[in-house]
Amino acid sequence: MPDPSLLILAGDGIGPEVMAEVKRIIAWMGEKRGIRFSVSEDLVGGCAYDAHGVPLTDETMARAQAVDAVLLGAVGGPKYDSLDFSVKPERGLLRLRKEMDLYANLRPAQCFDALADFSSLKKEIIAGLDIVIVRELTGGVYFGEPRGIFPDNEGGRVGINTQRYTTNEIRRVARSAFELARRRRNKVCSMEKANVMESGILWREEVQWVHDNEYPDVELSHMYADNGAMQLVRWPRQFDVIVTDNLFGDILSDCAAMLTGSLGMLPSASLGAPMANGRPKALYEPVHGSAPDIAGQGKANPIACILSFAMALRYSFDLGDEATRIEKAVEKVLAQGVRTADLMGPEGGTPVSTSGMGDAILKALDASL
Ligand code: NAD
Repeated sequence: MPDPSLLILAGDGIGPEVMAEVKRIIAWMGEKRGIRFSVSEDLVGGCAYDAHGVPLTDETMARAQAVDAVLLGAVGGPKYDSLDFSVKPERGLLRLRKEMDLYANLRPAQCFDALADFSSLKKEIIAGLDIVIVRELTGGVYFGEPRGIFPDNEGGRVGINTQRYTTNEIRRVARSAFELARRRRNKVCSMEKANVMESGILWREEVQWVHDNEYPDVELSHMYADNGAMQLVRWPRQFDVIVTDNLFGDILSDCAAMLTGSLGMLPSASLGAPMANGRPKALYEPVHGSAPDIAGQGKANPIACILSFAMALRYSFDLGDEATRIEKAVEKVLAQGVRTADLMGPEGGTPVSTSGMGDAILKALDASL
């Protein structure tokens, strides 16, 4: 069997800096665990525009379609702000998501005990939190037609967006959520507004259908999304996997993310349909952007990108134990007080650099053997 393939698109700003630490961990996996990947690298975002005049070339797109998983750093920066919309760095990322048809966006919200003080919630509510929000990413009100701003018949204007979901769109993202739950604590909570939206009624019925017909072993509950927002800040540990539509998922996943503190800690995965080899189409990336304010200074926290690679091990390569090994190594260095600048508390101390954090995590990985 050939080694599984990874395409690294480090991108702009701090993207290449945080990805450098991921590459060290990929090398460590090969040397110390015998887990090897066939790794290739390419350009996306502003750096691709500089080289080719587009934020993602057709060749890079084809490579992304052909590999087992894509790891992305971040794109964008002030240098590209004045570019035409069609060639802005973000268009490269959007093209990847669209053409790979990545319809399920997984955003974990996990609280490492050593960082519980960073949350705006009380420590006893947040400690031990480990939930994942699965957001439908390619349908719903952000894409539905008709849309636009039109004249109305009172001399004013009307703005229209359309919430639209089909059976297929709901069922496939529901399956992603149930599959995920089976690898975790086996619980899914589906959120919509079935009390006021027909698309919400359909959402609830279709998620229930997938459950009853394909995943009866997983515990399923339904909740109105507004109540879901309240419950997320009241008692977030009641959840395991939350599945919801594009709009509610956008809001609820940001809310859940902030429960745990710094942007530099948040990984994500975007998954699509299974390929011929059974692996889902997949793109893994930190939630943060290219952070131009700290780029090139060795200050970036690489943990979000490293945890994104851990998600790749778990969800693309069925290497959950190795993913856990990385997560435990991160937990250990945080418990030891190793901090990049973004994680410094009021008590102060000396932050480590991006590569200093990488060194500490590699040392903890060595100690795990
Ligand atoms: P950002 O996430 O880049 O930065 C927000 C703040 O968080 C900054 O102060 C930054 O220094 C800090 N930060 C972010 N990641 C960090 C890390 N790993 N370690 C330490 N600190 C970190 O968001 P922004 O400033 O709104 O956007 C900057 C650029 O990134 C823009 O061009 C934007 O379009 C782009 N962007 C890209 C993505 C992506 O590639 N997925 C996502 C968001 C923003």
